[in-house]
Amino acid sequence: MTAFASESVQAELGFRYDPSDLYQQVIGHVLGSAEILDLPRHLRLIMAQPKNEFIFHFPVKMDDGEYKLYKGYRVQHNNILGPYKGGIRYHEGVGLDHVKALAVLMTMKAALVRLPLGGAKGGVQVDPRAVSQDELMRLTRRFTSAIADNIGPDHDIPAPDVGTNAQIMAWMADTYINFQPGHQRWLGEAVVTGKPLEFGGSYGREKATGQGLVFVLDELLPELGLRFDQTTFSLIGYGNVGSWTARLLQDRGAKLKAVMDHTGAIYNEKGIETLTLAQHVVFKGGVAGFADADPITEDEFYKTQVDLFIPAALEQMIDVQHAKIMNCKVVVEGANAPTTPQGQEVLAERGITVLPAVLCNCGGVTVSYREWKQNRQAETWDAETVDRRLRQHMTAAAGRVKLAVHRYGCDMRTATYCAALEYIGKVYQIRGIFP
Ligand code: GLU
Repeated sequence: MTAFASESVQAELGFRYDPSDLYQQVIGHVLGSAEILDLPRHLRLIMAQPKNEFIFHFPVKMDDGEYKLYKGYRVQHNNILGPYKGGIRYHEGVGLDHVKALAVLMTMKAALVRLPLGGAKGGVQVDPRAVSQDELMRLTRRFTSAIADNIGPDHDIPAPDVGTNAQIMAWMADTYINFQPGHQRWLGEAVVTGKPLEFGGSYGREKATGQGLVFVLDELLPELGLRFDQTTFSLIGYGNVGSWTARLLQDRGAKLKAVMDHTGAIYNEKGIETLTLAQHVVFKGGVAGFADADPITEDEFYKTQVDLFIPAALEQMIDVQHAKIMNCKVVVEGANAPTTPQGQEVLAERGITVLPAVLCNCGGVTVSYREWKQNRQAETWDAETVDRRLRQHMTAAAGRVKLAVHRYGCDMRTATYCAALEYIGKVYQIRGIFP
């Protein structure tokens, strides 16, 4: 019934059925949960398409004096709860459907945590490792000037994502501020979050996604019969989310056994020291060659026996093939949409629990909200205050998901979407559709 209802909405919107398409996968989850909640049809149609989709082509002067034309995106999915919010990704594989899917996930995250924010996502088709710092700066400033009319502290607030960082956010804010009339400049820095501390950033924003994930585990691990100090884990990705998650789990006594990233996979039965590995990655660009671990193949990585398997890199990494060979009790999704629906079915058949991304990685946008709030109030909060607020948000979000599992008798992913959508549904019901 759910699949049929979902397909009829997708057909009405003219989607050509493609089960491998990330956007259709995400919308499939959203519509499945809307069916459980019995949301009105018009709301399902609204949720299944973003409000705005922008594509920009812009030239950038390269170091050799030649010009290259780049392609960038900003997708604004929904703003019923507040200004659009979501990261900017720099990756050679960035495409419209991908950005659309990630924008929907931002709407879900903000609604689950009850932030007064909507969902958006953006990106540029570029490999940030293949350009110089100067080129990266010019590209960022030019892209920001292209989207400047469509973002703003009260309208749409970008943030870092895969391939972007605090420096890139600083260039974005500075460029945006230069487009503002003098008397409005002071608010300009609130146009992006994830900025450096010295330029309107917040304590705790860099580690926020990893910290949020660990706070969720504080809530859920005991129910899964696990204790941090007896828990082993493996990680895909050792960037911001992966490395912070690893360090914070190690602080609680858990042991990192294996890591895989774009440079290779490594393994140490006795445990990998997480901070030393983070330093290695900064200098070498990836985990390969880390002295205190053995190199392993991709297959061996997936087959490594651990309690927690934590994907913290890109989407769609856990497909059917990988799900069949994984040797873990729980998948903790640090990345956005790392498990395909088909992969998820295999995990469910094998009795592996999945803690879904919308819950596990919403810590990033939650502290972004705190940064935005500090900027608007011209305040600086200490790290403890930010952490305390983040924990409150994550505990409440985990509680909502548990309640939805109980109420609707569904898996945790479906429950997470239900917990987000029932709130959005209520707000639409109260406000109505204009005119
Ligand atoms: N890019 C992050 C995410 O996917 C953070 C977004 C934000 O802070 O707005 O959740």
